[in-house]
Amino acid sequence: MECTELQRNVRILATLRETELPVVSCYLDAEHGVAACRGFLGERVPLLRRTMPVAQRESFDRSLEHIERYVNENAQASDVRGIVVFVRSVEDPFLLTLRFHVPIPNQLVVDRVPHIYQLVALKTTYDRYVVVLMNKERASILEVNLGAVTRQTWSEHPLPPDRIGREWSKERYQRHRQKQTEDTIREKIKTLDNLMGAGGHSHLMLAGEPSMVERLKASLPSHLRQKLVHTVHAQANDHPGDVVNATLSSFVEFRQRNSHTYVAMLQQAISTNGLGILGTDATLQCLRYARADVLLLAEEYDPGPAWKCQDCEDIQIGQEPAQACPECSGTQFRGLAIKEEMVRLAEGSSCGVAVVRNNEFLMAGGGVGCLTRYDVLSARLKYLKL
Ligand SMILES: [Zn+2]
Repeated sequence: MECTELQRNVRILATLRETELPVVSCYLDAEHGVAACRGFLGERVPLLRRTMPVAQRESFDRSLEHIERYVNENAQASDVRGIVVFVRSVEDPFLLTLRFHVPIPNQLVVDRVPHIYQLVALKTTYDRYVVVLMNKERASILEVNLGAVTRQTWSEHPLPPDRIGREWSKERYQRHRQKQTEDTIREKIKTLDNLMGAGGHSHLMLAGEPSMVERLKASLPSHLRQKLVHTVHAQANDHPGDVVNATLSSFVEFRQRNSHTYVAMLQQAISTNGLGILGTDATLQCLRYARADVLLLAEEYDPGPAWKCQDCEDIQIGQEPAQACPECSGTQFRGLAIKEEMVRLAEGSSCGVAVVRNNEFLMAGGGVGCLTRYDVLSARLKYLKL
């Protein structure tokens, strides 16, 4: 699956119309095959079924049939490490199935809306980038989407004839070889430029033998150098799959550093111009009125139970809902997963989302905050390419 396709699906899920029947959101760790997936479902399903309204059980059971069928058909594939299914059955049916090459923690929830936090976290963690993998004999350009190579071109460098000692001096051979390398690098950069431009890519990695990587890096035009995230050194006999995995680890670290940059911007915005806010209530308000530019969520953020007024959609946080809604005096409430609601509102209003790990400032501020919309700030955010 490509990242742009995942983004389209996230948008569909974020704006899916609610009905009285539940959407089942199912995330499965498929690294250990069908039996492990079934084991998790076997533990979770009876509890969910027992505690749901009787009127929803038929829909739930039919949704589970879709999930089980998809698991049976896909969890055994060697390249599948995560499976995700969103399904609603009986009335206004909906089904979306996804396979991933990266691990996904198990989760099975039933709610009126799809739970998309994990999908969004996956998207922001792995995203997509281009790798140029180069050694003295060959070069390739790869597109990596959500941890998987989705496009690849290889080219061999033609070796000059073995004429040393017969027709060519060693110096002549080396000059020829050097010119050939320069031609290859020039040609690769041209292909790379076209591919990154056509695909709208904003992140580049270089990998391969150190001398080749350094030459390639030195030859990059400035607009491509600005997109360079990291270089990974590897030897000619390293397996390409291992090299790609090394680039993936570097990329995940880069995304984490990037998320901390957003927190630093939030900290500065709060202390200088008021264009940043912290805390659950303020963030929710900002998202509801589509004023957020980037939502920052600590990975550990857990605001506890919350309630949504069924008349005016006002949200209250606490173990129990109030007797009457403070906004409209309504008395009908339903349970709400705040973190999911935030991500859903963000994705529905083109607000970026950053999941932040281990950040004291964000945790001290309640684990959540957002940068608010403002022209100058937006320009900076576009440059950072969240
Ligand atoms: Zn209300």
